Amino acid sequence: MKEIHVAKTASRGIAVARVLKYQEPDFTPDGSSITQEQAALEKEKFAGAREAVKKALGVLAQENEIFAAHLEIVDDFTLQEGVESKIEGEHKNAQAALKETIEELKAIFDMMDDEYMRERAADIQDIGKRLMAELKGISLPDIGSLSSEAVIAARDLYPSDTVRINPEFVKGIITEEGGVTSHVSIIAKSMNIPTLVGVGPLLESLSGDELICMDAEKGIIVIDADEETLADYKVRKEDYEKERVRLQSLRNTPAVTKDGKKISLCANVGNLEDIEKALEMNIDGIGLFRSEFLYMENTHFPTEEEQFAVYSKAAALCPQELTIRTLDIGGDKELSYFEFEKEENPFLGWRAIRISLDMKDMFKQQLRAILRASVFGHVRIMFPMIISLEELKMAKDITEECKAELKAEGKAYDEDIELGMMIETPASVLLADEFAREADFFSIGTNDLTQYLLAIDRGNKKLADKYDYFHPAVLKAISHVIEAGHKEGIKVGMCGEMAGDSRATVKLLSMGLDEFSMSAGSVDYVREKIIE
Ligand code: PEP
Ligand code: MG
Repeated sequence: MKEIHVAKTASRGIAVARVLKYQEPDFTPDGSSITQEQAALEKEKFAGAREAVKKALGVLAQENEIFAAHLEIVDDFTLQEGVESKIEGEHKNAQAALKETIEELKAIFDMMDDEYMRERAADIQDIGKRLMAELKGISLPDIGSLSSEAVIAARDLYPSDTVRINPEFVKGIITEEGGVTSHVSIIAKSMNIPTLVGVGPLLESLSGDELICMDAEKGIIVIDADEETLADYKVRKEDYEKERVRLQSLRNTPAVTKDGKKISLCANVGNLEDIEKALEMNIDGIGLFRSEFLYMENTHFPTEEEQFAVYSKAAALCPQELTIRTLDIGGDKELSYFEFEKEENPFLGWRAIRISLDMKDMFKQQLRAILRASVFGHVRIMFPMIISLEELKMAKDITEECKAELKAEGKAYDEDIELGMMIETPASVLLADEFAREADFFSIGTNDLTQYLLAIDRGNKKLADKYDYFHPAVLKAISHVIEAGHKEGIKVGMCGEMAGDSRATVKLLSMGLDEFSMSAGSVDYVREKIIE
């Protein structure tokens, strides 16, 4: 039995399940050259791998059309011919021939003018991995297709991995790297999955079938627990569930403080399912709809119609308030279909509003979709990562341009839609007075604000102790922003993780924060602090 202690927990809860090691296998070909006599055998191996992959994709294709497209590519003659000609003509073994063929095909798709065709490069790579895994006799980890309960242990998880998680089977998440406000933590929290991040070296010591007990309340992981510990964890799990039931009984109490101030208690979401789950918490609205997940789950930039379909449903589901944040991509959030230039400091790079303003056509598609959805509820638009009044004015002007277009086309939208901004850069804190005259509302993003004020990467586990939103500089900034907003008569909310930390609730209330927006799993805990 081995016990690991972690300083901070990313998402609450107790889990007991077998571990699933989530590791990208080594796809390097075993060997390379062959003799002429071995060619037939290598071709046979490739044909066998192709058949096995086709069979697997055939099953997956019934549920998801992406895999139907993959099936077509595997069936395509170009891939087969490419590999076979390298086996025959260049005396490469099947694995090396496959690697080179995939690289060549990917390069061709990468260079195409047509965006749709360029997107196929990622598909080619995916298929290459499947075929290589078959040839090498290794199995591919796939969080999305998990069909029994497990605690996932990974070096790190990217948002693209995490969005595929099925909470029915993923009982817990442990990552060697990452911080508590990294995006894996945020997504895990929205799914209510107990999660511990930044736990340090772990995978090496795991064989892959250990029983894991994790207490993501206290930050403890037990590997191969003895009988006594296992029994103790079963009790902890029951106690945790009982506490949840107690908190649930407070759900019908409105979030009003003892001195009579009505607080807007909202949820942060990434998709329609999150909204449905959050509504069970009796929330006052959605304070942050992270629209980038709609982009990340896709194989192409979602069109205006595709986005409209989602936003209008979201607005109808939650007519109280739906704050849609415009695309906040970049940093650690990437798109499989869009190549970002490599940057030295991605969190200080081309991200969020900077991308939207540079890619105006793409931005307009999103704004038009949000505007059209605004007639289905009370929709608000929020711009991320603003650092200057010029940026805010540009974003507002483009929104006006979209409104004028929609009017000319006879399409309905809410004429008085509120346009707000996130306060998550030091510049926006220092200029809060000026911004308060231009924006209809503020929402403080403490995740980024803390990293930029303290110059500490939010995902750096070495500095996790020092990444602290209770740092006096962060508290001073929050207080200043609330004051500046109130002076101009606008509401100030918070949608960073601090808003969902019940240890901070009383402090934020005393500063005058109007809206708290958090992962659904934190709502009960914060409500208790507001009403007590
Ligand atoms: C934040 O930075 O606090 C925030 C809410 O945005 P994100 O975590 O998506 O960067
Ligand atoms: Mg942010």
